[in-house]
Amino acid sequence: MKTVEEYLESLRRRDVRLFIRGERVADPVDHPLVAPSIRTIAESYRLAAEPEHREVFTAHSRFIDDRVNRFTHIFEGVDDLHKKQEMQRTLGRVTGTCFQRCVGMDALNALYNVTWETDEARGTSYHERFLAFVREVQRGDLVSCGAMTDPKGDRRRPPIEQPDAYLRVVQRRDDAIVVRGAKMHQTGVVNSHEIIVMPGRALSEDEGDFAVSFAVPVDAPGVTLVYGRTPSDGRRTGPALDQGTPYGGQEAIVIFDDVLVPMERVFLLGETEMAVPLVEYFAGHHRHSYGGCKPGNGDVLIGATALAAKLAGVAKVSHVRDKLVEMVHLNETLYGCGVACATRCQSTPSGTPMVDPLLANVCKQNVTRFPYEIGRLAEDVAGGLLVTMPSADDLDEPEIGPILTSLLRGAEGSGRDRAAVLRLIESMTLGTTAVPLRTEAMHGAGSPQAQRVRIAAQADFEDKMALAARIAGIDLDATEADGEVRR
Ligand code: SF4
Ligand code: FE
Repeated sequence: MKTVEEYLESLRRRDVRLFIRGERVADPVDHPLVAPSIRTIAESYRLAAEPEHREVFTAHSRFIDDRVNRFTHIFEGVDDLHKKQEMQRTLGRVTGTCFQRCVGMDALNALYNVTWETDEARGTSYHERFLAFVREVQRGDLVSCGAMTDPKGDRRRPPIEQPDAYLRVVQRRDDAIVVRGAKMHQTGVVNSHEIIVMPGRALSEDEGDFAVSFAVPVDAPGVTLVYGRTPSDGRRTGPALDQGTPYGGQEAIVIFDDVLVPMERVFLLGETEMAVPLVEYFAGHHRHSYGGCKPGNGDVLIGATALAAKLAGVAKVSHVRDKLVEMVHLNETLYGCGVACATRCQSTPSGTPMVDPLLANVCKQNVTRFPYEIGRLAEDVAGGLLVTMPSADDLDEPEIGPILTSLLRGAEGSGRDRAAVLRLIESMTLGTTAVPLRTEAMHGAGSPQAQRVRIAAQADFEDKMALAARIAGIDLDATEADGEVRR
């Protein structure tokens, strides 16, 4: 496995085509806007090397018969799902933001199943090819970015009617394909080695060119990355105190301009019927992931809120305690749903554990809501100073600085301590950590409606009506015959 230094070095060796604020950036590793997000992913390497985290952050791979970073692991049983979530909660607690490496892990696990099932149904040989890629990722301890979301253009029109709005195959050769298109809001791609591309929606039979999955290096010819700007970017080049945290997430748009993909790295090509299973596998695993990272981030936000209350001298005030308790209740509900969907996993045809899809969707649906309430309570307890506080430059100014820090002082700690903890809360609630906790929680792993569609499909209302009908003494078959109940 790679050390942190080897990871950073491997990023420097890439020749990425990256634009940040209209400028081409040759080496993003030390760029002030990118560095916080690299520092964040690097924690996944640092903790994997620590003996007390080894059990959770690493796993034995049967493909290379060696210990690998869990982010590159193919799940083998329920224990792996639980450990994955524990790893995510730990990283969420350590960084307080998105550590970006889960998308690739969940994509690997989705493709493991889909390549196997495609081969079974079609007699193709995707699975062996895919396993060769898995070995490469595991041996190199690589970061993979999972690319699923197309630009989608006019949402009323399918891919076949607006091909430019979806990533697609534009040329098929014996030994390679050529792809064109883009993928939007790609978590951590600037800090990755590989991009794993997958279709992101149901496709009709005549949309075979869009049913394509493959892996390419981030610096493959024709790949362009455009860093996702956030309102906080201006301050990320400013004093550390104003940033609130040394960590951050990262998103970018990836443009594929006639990228050549060797056939040995193509994992799906034209099998439109496999697009939905692929999305389902990926979404299930990734919605479970949010039951790990977001409670971890929640721990940091709850801790920051409690600390702000303590410094201000209101820690023991009953309504403040009650708000902190409510934050914990919401946070642990997110975690509990994640544990539940993993506990109730079932074995897939290829023998890997798949989370309970209904509970995974309920988990993510809660994640689209509770972080908002947790953030609201944090802002409530923190007070208006959160947004009215002077900048670090003012606190450092010789004439007014001492006055300001004395004005900021509460019951405990220094004025600067109070400023620091409020900036951390600001960064997490108002989105100054590059990927706002709230909007990221809302739309990552699918927007709320995507989960509601799946919840509706999996809810089994027939079963629930039958339960009610039996207790209420209604003969559903008879009533239906009378035409009085429409199910
Ligand atoms: Fe991982 Fe959470 Fe970031 Fe998704 S949002 S990549 S699950 S840390
Ligand atoms: Fe995400």
